[in-house]
Formats: sequence, structure tokens, C-alpha cells
Amino acid sequence: FDKLKGALQKTKDVLRTDVRDLFKAGVILDEPKLEEFQKGLITTDMGVSASNQIVEDLRKKYLGRTMVLDEVWGTVKERLRIILVGKGDVAWDSKNPLSPLKLAESGPTVILVCGVNGVGKTTSIAKLAKLLTKSGKKVVLAAGDTFRAAAVEQLTMWAKRLGCEIVTKPSGSDPASVAFEGCDRAVTTGADVVIIDTAGRLQTHQNLMQELGKIHRVIGKRIPGAPHESLLVLDATTGQNGLSQASKFSDAANCTGLVLAKLDGTAKGGIVVAIREQMGIPVKYVGVGEQIDDLELFSPDDFVDALFS
Ligand code: GDP
Repeated sequence: FDKLKGALQKTKDVLRTDVRDLFKAGVILDEPKLEEFQKGLITTDMGVSASNQIVEDLRKKYLGRTMVLDEVWGTVKERLRIILVGKGDVAWDSKNPLSPLKLAESGPTVILVCGVNGVGKTTSIAKLAKLLTKSGKKVVLAAGDTFRAAAVEQLTMWAKRLGCEIVTKPSGSDPASVAFEGCDRAVTTGADVVIIDTAGRLQTHQNLMQELGKIHRVIGKRIPGAPHESLLVLDATTGQNGLSQASKFSDAANCTGLVLAKLDGTAKGGIVVAIREQMGIPVKYVGVGEQIDDLELFSPDDFVDALFS
């Protein structure tokens, strides 16, 4: 929780300077104050819809009334929680870092990871592998981003450090064959989880669909039910701009969850809320730094508390 709080510090600063001064105890809430408040919320990249809902709650409850600061924050936090919990799909145990993942009932769990180059995909895979190995899981990595030699090298370095096996193929090889081999290796060595990296080039929608579709088909042949998770990594610092790109990937990959990297580098941490609203898939993990342990399970309660505590 402390790491999350630290990561959200810049976002908190925005809220504190732009917003908190508006709501001093004893002040009567009027429309200009609500408008100012909404501007502050939008500055954090929370999005128009979420900030409208929050402002509407406040308007209903407090317009023309003297405000009690704690009550105001309580109202804001409640609305954010409702948005972030979505359709009740975030009911995981915040004390168990693996609980957001759907693990296979028998045989290896397959986690497919996609995202545009530079968003923090490779680092997030390494961090996830660390979480899994720390919980006693045997992990195989499959370096499926065969178009970038640097990505393969970087993943190989992480695999060495973590002591996990890695499957690689020469540059330009078919990503689906790397994915297949990763699954095969996991089955034959009795590994618990295989994490498959995928190409992060910006591609046409159709290419992307074809490539990911093929990966889905071949790994499903080797391990029925695979992939069990399909995670999309997003860069929190790209804010609202990253979202449209993200939804393209999300459709093509049939994503089951998001990893929001680089939350520590941004004053626009409200993007988590916008993502939840616009994408309809839950944020499962957040990256809060460059180190291998800097991946936190995303908990709406912790997020809201960290933002407003
Ligand atoms: P990829 O191209 O998507 O595989 O991205 P990388 O994993 O290589 O990451 C790109 C850069 O972002 C690297 O310098 C990482 O150290 C950095 N990075 C990744 N995740 C985080 C994070 O959660 N916080 C911070 N501050 N930096 C991160």
C-alpha cells in the first residue's frame, strides 16, 4: 500500500492543490465551486463521465449546504469505488497477489501478454513472473516478440535473474511457434505457468487480429482452455491518448485484464478510472516503479484510499 501511495503522490498533489482548497469546512457549496472541482478531477485524466458522476453526487447532496469535508470525500470515494468495481468482477483478495489471475484447474496456466512497444510490457512480464515464483509457482517465459531482438534479450536477462526457463527463437520467427513451444515446455517440465510475450509493433487491426488469433489457436491445441488470461499492458503516462490504441488491442486479444505500468511516473493517475469506465475490463495490476518487485495487485479500495488519504 505504501508503494501505491508513493506512486499516486503526483496525482494527489494535483487534487490537493486544485481541489482541496475549495472544500474548506464551513464553506457553502455552489455551482462555481463544483465547476472548479470538476476541472481538477479532469486534470487527473479521470475522464468526463466519471467526473460528471462525482459532481452530480455532490450537487445532489450538498448544493447550497455547508460542507463537512469528510462527508464530501466520503461521497467522492464511494462513487469512485462504484465505478472501479464495475460489474462486481474485482472481488479478489487483496492480500493474495495471485488472486486476480484465473489459474488453470490442472496443467499449466497460460498467460498471454500484449501491448504496444515501450509501454512497459517486458518489465511487467518479469514482475509478474517474480510474483508467481515468489508464490512457489514454476514459470516458463516464451519470448514471442520475435520482431524485437532487444525484447528477447531483455526477457532472457530477467529469466536468468529469476531462475525461470525461457523459450526463444531467432529474430523474425513466427510468434505463434514460440508460444506453442513455451506451452509445450511447460507441459513437459511440469511448470505451473507459462507467460507469453507478443509482438508490440503498431500494426493494422487486421494483422493484429490474425497474429493473435493464430497464437490463440495453436496454444489452445497444446493446452486446452489456453490462454487462461490475456493481459494488456498500458502506459499510465500516455493518459487518455493511449486509450484508443488500447481498445484496438483489447478487442483483438480478447483481453481479460489490464496491467497499468508506470503509474508512479504520472500526475494523471485518474486514468485508472477512465480506463475502467471506457474499456469494460478490470485493471488487475499496476506498475509502481522500475524494479522487479514494483508490481501491485490493483485494489479499488486501496487505490481510492491512497488517492484521498
Ligand atoms: P516494452 O517495450 O513495452 O517491453 O517496455 P519495457 O518493459 O522495456 O519498459 C520501457 C521502460 O519503462 C523501461 O525503461 C522500464 O524500466 C520502464 N518501466 C516499465 N514499467 C515501469 C513502471 O511501472 N514504472 C516506471 N517508473 N518505469 C517503468
